[in-house]
Amino acid sequence: MRDDWRKRFAETPDCLKSARRRQTIVPVLDIEVGGDEFITMAGPCSVETEFQLMATANRVRRAGARILRGGAFKPRSSPYAFQGLGLNGLKILARAREESGLAIVTEAMSEDDVPMVAEYADILQIGARSMENYSLLEAAARSGRPVLLKRGMAATIADLLRSAQLILDCGNPNVILCERGIRTFETATRNTFDVGAIALLKQISHLPVIADPSHAAGHRDLVPALARIAVAAGADGLLVEVHPNPEKAWSDGEQSLDFAGFDEMMDALDPWIALRGLELERRRRGVSRREAADLRPMEAVG
Ligand code: PEP
Ligand code: MN
Repeated sequence: MRDDWRKRFAETPDCLKSARRRQTIVPVLDIEVGGDEFITMAGPCSVETEFQLMATANRVRRAGARILRGGAFKPRSSPYAFQGLGLNGLKILARAREESGLAIVTEAMSEDDVPMVAEYADILQIGARSMENYSLLEAAARSGRPVLLKRGMAATIADLLRSAQLILDCGNPNVILCERGIRTFETATRNTFDVGAIALLKQISHLPVIADPSHAAGHRDLVPALARIAVAAGADGLLVEVHPNPEKAWSDGEQSLDFAGFDEMMDALDPWIALRGLELERRRRGVSRREAADLRPMEAVG
């Protein structure tokens, strides 16, 4: 790494690459985040019903996702919007893991909720709005679960690394960084996808970097292109919102892909992932196109 980067990020030495630490691999069930496989985490913004989550879990698994996302505790831009199913949502997530074999990533919003969320989740998500909530970060770190740390919408790369450093300082080495777009003067996209941050983080940090094209774009038709760009920029994986019927989603429907859209996105990513020399989980598992295409419209699903 260049000396000027080392000086610039000197406050967060444990996040930086060194001769001893070139790449952290975060183990999650039988999955390695930051290893040779490009890892896709996919699922609805919010857990709504058991049927919605099970249908999504099975479909995203067949399309090659390894980790199921879904919020049970939702930080919303409006205090009047749906706040999540709470404990019931966590229980539905756990059943989806049992049925699909996918690992679970879900958000903890307050330090008081961490023990309960950690009981059900394989990865604790720290949302953009919470990136600088240090008591939450400490509690998440001490839970022993891997932590997916989302970049705050007005956080610099140095701010993101400071929060990561705090988790490392608490003795938890399993931190996954997540670029999800930042706030700029542009309003046509929900946030501005900072691909430079992905490229830079991959140069200076040994921590895995996951890209969230859904919250960056805010519009589902932009998600596949941003996902491709994330692969090209060197991301270790993706976090993508997928819903059986996005028009009826209880949160973030405009940016959620439907099942066919997710299949298409994953297919289109294959050559880009292969260019990086990473493994394609789908190929390894031998899931056939026909199996992946065995879909029924899900109009009935909320
Ligand atoms: C989410 O992942 O649904 C979410 C709320 O993301 P962020 O914290 O990045 O806004
Ligand atoms: Mn969302």
